[in-house]
Amino acid sequence: MIIIVKQQAPETKLNELIHNLEQQNFKIHLSKGENTTIIGLVGDTSLVDIDNIKAKDIVEDVRRVSEPYKKANRKFHADDTVIDAGGQLIGGGHFAVIAGPCSVESEQQMLEITGDIRKSGANFLRGGAYKPRTSPYAFQGLEQDGIRLLLACKKQFGIPVVTEIMGISDIPYFEHVDVIQVGARNMQNFRLLKELGKLKQPILLKRGLANTIEEFLMSAEYIMAGGNENVILCERGIRTFETFTRNTFDLSAIPVLKNKSHLPVIADPSHAAGLNWLVEPLSKAAIAAGADGLMIEVHNDPEHALSDGKQSLTPHTFDDMMKRLKAYMELEGKQIG
Ligand code: PEP
Ligand code: MN
Repeated sequence: MIIIVKQQAPETKLNELIHNLEQQNFKIHLSKGENTTIIGLVGDTSLVDIDNIKAKDIVEDVRRVSEPYKKANRKFHADDTVIDAGGQLIGGGHFAVIAGPCSVESEQQMLEITGDIRKSGANFLRGGAYKPRTSPYAFQGLEQDGIRLLLACKKQFGIPVVTEIMGISDIPYFEHVDVIQVGARNMQNFRLLKELGKLKQPILLKRGLANTIEEFLMSAEYIMAGGNENVILCERGIRTFETFTRNTFDLSAIPVLKNKSHLPVIADPSHAAGLNWLVEPLSKAAIAAGADGLMIEVHNDPEHALSDGKQSLTPHTFDDMMKRLKAYMELEGKQIG
């Protein structure tokens, strides 16, 4: 971290600042030029409050030269993290295929879809029980009943389940859920992230609609700082000026995240595209870009789905796509589970 000191800063104030930083165990490199004085800070600066230093009278600017996240940072953890989620591994060559409907709607729907996606090779079942909908008048999810249906499928088919949490008060209902999803809209719900940091289950963290990669990694850091280091990152498209697709799939985020972090990175082409026919090409691109998994929406009757029918594959098209995707996984040295 570099602190640029204002010209004509009184020597006493400069010494006071340096003394203060030394007391926090930082090594100081002072460079006094003709026009500028620069303080170089060496040490773990991830805990430093930049705004606090910026607020000082004699400080012109503060710049980070290293990332503000530590636990999620590959610099401090060179090897890929491999997460065990309900007996299935994700990361380090282990690929996750998470498939299922946007919303859990009924027992019959869930049993039918679970049987189908499992046969096609999916190793996780997804389904929203608590739904973050733009309109308060849209289907809000079956809530606790939805979780019960997911757990019944888990029991019957022996498949781990992934479902979204929206509020701290619902945590008790997620006790037997294998992977707890934090949706895009809650990526910066810091109080929720802190509570999830106290749990043992893996957390699937989706990138916010308008969040930078660094903000995304800082949200992972929140969960990890609390003690839960089992975080799976999910690129699901971001808001841009383009309106043809529901979001813009940020393909480059995948290799960037894999470069900056050791955490597994998966892609959700369904929410990125918003259109079912784009799911396959984006899935192929995600695998080629190094993704450790995919989250795909599959519905037995997309036309009558209570949410996101337009982007859902039928079990049949999902099966066809999976056959083709396996060659891409092989090429990247990835295997399911
Ligand atoms: C979902 O996965 O059902 C969902 C709501 O996704 P996102 O948070 O990415 O919009
Ligand atoms: Mn959806």
